[in-house]
Amino acid sequence: MSRTKLLIPGPVDFGETVRMAMASPSRPHYGRDWIRLYTETQEMLKRLFQTKSDILIMAGPGTMALEAAMASATEPGETIIIPDNGFFARRLVTVAEGLQLKTVVPQVEEGKPITAEVVREAIEAHPEAKALAIVHHETSTTVLNPLETITPLAKEAGLITIVDAVSSMGGVPLPVDAWGIDFCVTVANKALEIPPALAILSVSPDGWKAIEARQAARGWYLDLKTWKWYAENWGNWHPTPVTMPTSNMVALHTSLMQLLDEGVERRYAAYAAAAHAVRAGLEALGFPPFVEEAYASPLTTAFLMRPGVDADELQRELKEQSGVMISGGIAELHGKILRVGHIGLARKRDYVVAFLLGVEDFLRRHGEDVPYGASLVALEGLEL
Ligand SMILES: *Cc1c(COP(=O)(O)O)cnc(C)c1O
Repeated sequence: MSRTKLLIPGPVDFGETVRMAMASPSRPHYGRDWIRLYTETQEMLKRLFQTKSDILIMAGPGTMALEAAMASATEPGETIIIPDNGFFARRLVTVAEGLQLKTVVPQVEEGKPITAEVVREAIEAHPEAKALAIVHHETSTTVLNPLETITPLAKEAGLITIVDAVSSMGGVPLPVDAWGIDFCVTVANKALEIPPALAILSVSPDGWKAIEARQAARGWYLDLKTWKWYAENWGNWHPTPVTMPTSNMVALHTSLMQLLDEGVERRYAAYAAAAHAVRAGLEALGFPPFVEEAYASPLTTAFLMRPGVDADELQRELKEQSGVMISGGIAELHGKILRVGHIGLARKRDYVVAFLLGVEDFLRRHGEDVPYGASLVALEGLEL
């Protein structure tokens, strides 16, 4: 059966081992075997996050865990700083507004990184701010924000730091403790390479202090106090407040074992090799990059259209004629850029080659004289 190859920022195509794990027999989300699976998964996540903080695994999407972190650590009326250089930052602003927080939103041009200066100025202008929420990999533009220069300074200033690492954790280095991150949120269906349904977050001791000091009611499922209560009181047989997607937990355990056995450095290098092959190939075909290489994430590539090429048409024909799915630009960037994901099986040579040859085929169908294979200029180092 021929399937569409996913070269999108997530969800991703994943390997046979994870597919088999998803098909494992049904099991309960409590009891001895479950506790072993659950705690081993938490321990592996601590290694990946490079943290001594607690790790919570919640059923639901990444946005849910971001909302849980924000809601649990703040009271209505408190101020939160959310630097904005893209769609996912604005999503955080919307969540904060829904929680009746006062938002301070320093603006940075889309396609450019958030700088430490911008954040420092916002903190100085708003000494009342309680928290900073920031996106690591702004997937809508593919910019990797330089967190290592930003979260430590916010932490130093006494703010609670909340990081949207939904599309970056597992794909680029992100040492949570060293970078002063109180709440680091990711999902299982991006660089952790399993199907959607699980969100993961770390909560630091300062994060728990803020949660315990909070007075306002903040619901039940999304209040991390609830999660702490279950971990502490039911932790030896039923560690979460609700039923968990058990097959996904088996898959997450499997995927993390693979990643840690293989070594994260090797995985980072594989993503970077895929990004390099795609970028060099697009350049050979005359498509300019949207983001400067210095702050472009190795997990997704955004490229600009060249004269005579319509973004929607290229995206559609890649899917219909070449069986390759990529993503468009979101909101203002629609029609201006296209985005190619490098996570999951998209890091492999057959995916990268299928995409590049698909773009070549498109150009030839539209009357251009492109020699076959003209885009296959940097395939070295790609995983098989
Ligand atoms: C994918 C993504 C999200 C949204 O994740 P959901 O699981 O759909 O809630 C949030 N932030 C970033 C940076 C993302 O890439």
